[in-house]
Amino acid sequence: MNETSTREREQSTLGTMPYEQEVDEDRTFDVECSCGETARLYCYAGRDWPWKHDMVTGLGHVVEYRRVDTEVSDD
Ligand SMILES: [Zn+2]
Repeated sequence: MNETSTREREQSTLGTMPYEQEVDEDRTFDVECSCGETARLYCYAGRDWPWKHDMVTGLGHVVEYRRVDTEVSDD
């Protein structure tokens, strides 16, 4: 049952940014910048651009995107 999620995780290392992947579906990310800024980023289907903070700050700010909607567990 975990094979699907493992495959998705492998696909996320292909080089494209997380928000550029699976753009035909809704995705949710926790984003954290090296400067300490954090947010919850909701990417609806069709959205393929980065967090606003990532766009306006640029160099010197390293943003990590952590997809959270695939980690939901009802166990
Ligand atoms: Zn920043």
